[in-house]
Amino acid sequence: MSDKEIEYLATPQKVNFKEMEIGGQKYPAWRIVASSDLGPGKGGIRFHPQVDEDEVKSLAFWMALKNSLADIPYGGAKGGVAFDPKNTDAQTIEAVSRAYVQSFHEHLGQDIDIPAPDVYTNSQIMAYMLDEFEKIKGEHQPGMITGKPVELGGIVLRQDATARGGYLVIKQAAQELLDKKDKITVAVQGFGNAGGYIAKMLAQDNFLVVAVSDSRGGVYNEAGLDLEAVEKVKQETGSVFKDNGRALSNEELLQLPVDILVLAALENQVTEANVDKVQAKLIVELANGPVNYEADKALFSRNIPVVPDILANSGGVIVSYFEWAQNRTGQILDNDYLVALLSKKMLSSWQAVYQKYLGAEKKISLRQAAYIIAAQRILAGAKWRGRI
Ligand code: NAD
Repeated sequence: MSDKEIEYLATPQKVNFKEMEIGGQKYPAWRIVASSDLGPGKGGIRFHPQVDEDEVKSLAFWMALKNSLADIPYGGAKGGVAFDPKNTDAQTIEAVSRAYVQSFHEHLGQDIDIPAPDVYTNSQIMAYMLDEFEKIKGEHQPGMITGKPVELGGIVLRQDATARGGYLVIKQAAQELLDKKDKITVAVQGFGNAGGYIAKMLAQDNFLVVAVSDSRGGVYNEAGLDLEAVEKVKQETGSVFKDNGRALSNEELLQLPVDILVLAALENQVTEANVDKVQAKLIVELANGPVNYEADKALFSRNIPVVPDILANSGGVIVSYFEWAQNRTGQILDNDYLVALLSKKMLSSWQAVYQKYLGAEKKISLRQAAYIIAAQRILAGAKWRGRI
């Protein structure tokens, strides 16, 4: 890649900032498009006290890579509002959501830039944003946002889409990268939306899920966990541990001698501080950025493959694309057809990355292979347009 190409990729195409004011309080808000070379901007909106311009810029770029690798007709974008939604009442959260659209509506739209949920935003917030947008424009346009409630044009498949996509990739990666073909043991960090669904999908498919955890700790059973029982305990007590196995901490979970470690909680979980103790044979990033840069290098030198987030969790944005396509055509797409299409897209992304990795004789990581494919497609789009 030339310096000019690197600079092109690293420079966001649109940076929008507004200091919103609600009830005398200030709410800094951003919407940033990293790339529109392959299509309209696409990426979530995050409500979090630590949101700042640099973070939104890098998340937007991450989305551009993810969308490009998934081979869906989108660029990459991200939005955020810097405030603490956990300590904010529901009425104010609605006001922030509507103010966001009032601030940025000229830069949003089904052919311009399409938001979705991210950290601490959900389908209710997407519904307020859609409503505000349609009020301003005076027309219905459900394709301007994804992750909506089903009644407003959302899609049922969305709920477990990230896990489903990750599960399909794990199945394939296990076949190609592990020597073992049965009794493959799995530990899942983060028994939330993505992690909870993927644990159950893997267990139903003869993987042996031996450990799961959430923010309050984990549970381990070498004979395989009864995940329904674990879920019930979590609903009753708020934590995954009780009687279903032995209790273990998150650090212990990360160090278990399992075949596959699925990271489905937060960023920066495997770092230079604990990477030497990781014993898994294959790591899958279902969360965004759970393995940091130093740890990634260390795992590569130990020949432990890491399936990168932009591949493993792309099921969510692929199903967002289905939602957008359905909204735009007005057609109702059959769920079985969409499940088959998701599977096809995930497997073809996996194959592209895996073949690139083999083609380089495993001298690059799966992550580098994914980045190369994604960046090359964006650059090809930019070149066809005469932008570089
Ligand atoms: P979630 O809030 O439903 O689940 C997160 C889980 O992680 C919770 O169970 C929480 O208790 C647990 N957790 C928090 N801190 C932990 C810790 N220190 N150790 C172990 N567990 C901990 O969130 P989610 O939607 O499942 O998302 C999880 C990750 O996946 C995030 O990084 C998110 O960005 C990424 N992701 C999710 C989707 C999606 O569609 N849900 C799509 C793409 C990426």
